[in-house]
Amino acid sequence: MTKGETMDQSNISRRNFLKKLGGTTLATAAVLTGCSKEEEKKTQGVNPQDVPTGKMTYRKDAHGEDVSILAFGCMRLPTTMGVSGREDSKNEIDQEEVNRMVDYAIEHGVNLFDTSPAYCQGRSEKAVGIALSRHKRSEYKVSTKLSNFGVYTREASMEMYHNSFKELQVDYIDYYLLHAVGGGEDAMQLLADRYLNNGMLEFLLEERKAGRIKNLGFSYHGDIRVYDYLLSRHEEINWDFVLIQHNYVDWSHAKKINPGNTNSEYLYGELEKRGIKAFVMEPLLGGNLAKLNNHATELLKKQDPEASIASWAFRFAGTQPNILSVISGMTYIEHLQDNIKTYSPLVPINEEEAKLLSEIADIYANYPTVPCNTCQYCMPCPYGLDIPTIFTHYNKCLNEGLVIEERGNEQYKEARTAFLVGYDRKVPKLRQADHCIGCGKCLEACPQRINIPKEMQRIDQFVELLKRDGADLGNAARLAILMRKLDEGNHSCVIGKGEEVHAYSKRGVMDLYELAEKQEEFTKDALLADKIIGKGAAALAIQCGISHLRTHVICTPAKKLLEENGVKVTFEKEVEFIENRAKTDWCPLEKRLKDCQTVNECMPVIRQFIQDLKDGKI
Ligand code: SF4
Ligand code: SF4
Repeated sequence: MTKGETMDQSNISRRNFLKKLGGTTLATAAVLTGCSKEEEKKTQGVNPQDVPTGKMTYRKDAHGEDVSILAFGCMRLPTTMGVSGREDSKNEIDQEEVNRMVDYAIEHGVNLFDTSPAYCQGRSEKAVGIALSRHKRSEYKVSTKLSNFGVYTREASMEMYHNSFKELQVDYIDYYLLHAVGGGEDAMQLLADRYLNNGMLEFLLEERKAGRIKNLGFSYHGDIRVYDYLLSRHEEINWDFVLIQHNYVDWSHAKKINPGNTNSEYLYGELEKRGIKAFVMEPLLGGNLAKLNNHATELLKKQDPEASIASWAFRFAGTQPNILSVISGMTYIEHLQDNIKTYSPLVPINEEEAKLLSEIADIYANYPTVPCNTCQYCMPCPYGLDIPTIFTHYNKCLNEGLVIEERGNEQYKEARTAFLVGYDRKVPKLRQADHCIGCGKCLEACPQRINIPKEMQRIDQFVELLKRDGADLGNAARLAILMRKLDEGNHSCVIGKGEEVHAYSKRGVMDLYELAEKQEEFTKDALLADKIIGKGAAALAIQCGISHLRTHVICTPAKKLLEENGVKVTFEKEVEFIENRAKTDWCPLEKRLKDCQTVNECMPVIRQFIQDLKDGKI
């Protein structure tokens, strides 16, 4: 896949997906897991007797050393409360349990342990160092990172680097990473500040020469320019490996899940063609691929009733031959056991299975969970919101089919109670979504580039709808119902007023155009649900007299025009401009309207456009 391709060119992506996976043959395999929730602990538990020893799959690193395909991710080590140390800052890391899990992992063939000075709120490296120092140095490899997120000075960065050796009790580090490059408002500038201008990259290259770093790489999230830039310097730097986000959804749907991300098909391909080994993070997409919705779960269970849902994702993550190791953050021994089982040995995904996972990925990508992986980087919110827990609850309910807006649905009552009771139980009232003031302070911190305030607004609207219980259906609730009708019927737009609802299915803006020209009474002060709103559709909606509008995608100029004309707008995604169907350029109508500022300026241009369409000139 080329860089300029989009998600919707899924035919191309799907072909590559099948070709690359189907054509892959692997020597052996390894295991993984990545679940941190109590429920997952239960659902993924395997009989310890079924966990094989001596069957782990290994891959060769840049220096020909064997690395287990399962890497123990140490970002969610357990605390003495038995929960993940990523979230629990009050209780100490349970060192005894960490020792037990590390011993178990080594005993079952895992030889890579991945940590960072930032993990478990600064406590991971020390705990990992204590656990590993009880083993021979030849029995394990350790990866850690220059996580200089706050202070970028050379002194502070050097101190962090040297401290990692002390905490880990080692005199060399096997894999050292520039941590999470690609984030921030100006990602190129941030990269320069953190690693280039302070001389840290040069220093690390010297350290590699001196043998204190065996392999040098970087972990990437976000702005693709940073990824491409660092790879463009490969000949000079000679990256030994790169850590990328890779799973069967991100393979070709990354942008749909998170507009700030890039398909792993591209990321992996760029590494493969340069012969750079890939480490994998997010094999479960923040745990979401361990608990799919009912339909997707059924499809996987039909294929293999015995396999855990998570194991499919782990197998996919390890299948490509250039993947060196898959990092799985583990809190409980049950996760470790399930992952070891999956990777002892790895059974690569075959062509038929790849096709199934591609289908599941399509289902998932159209399923609007929030791609939060509970990393906590956005916390604390100055207004007290518990951002990750709100997203976790919402995602869980979505996956369990508990997000239902229509009262007519027979599951509505039960789902409503489950959602609201669970919400109040997990998130104290003062920390819920309705307290978000949209200050945007959390935005820069999120490596998943989630538009947190927008998602908070969406979740709050849903909660409000449930609380009112449809007794007095407000406009938000009515629009939600119209949107459902729009999606289920695959209409181009749906308009509702009082009890009257009409669905339209002509291509593009044709229906809105005809309604606007007729100036029907029905559309005055009506509600409009639409898939995509560009400036043309916005002008027509205003001309129709629409009072409230909800859409999946809106472009910024359309939003501005609507708001200036007093139309209340809600949307799921805002883009700079609307693309044409082939995604190669602007939508032709949008292009013609580029310089129009008002509805009066837009209307003659739209009329001419429709005429040209009818005349076959477009
Ligand atoms: S935008 Fe909302 S969630 Fe983010 S920091 Fe501000 S108040 Fe908190
Ligand atoms: S919203 Fe973003 S930063 Fe916050 S916990 Fe989720 S993924 Fe991490």
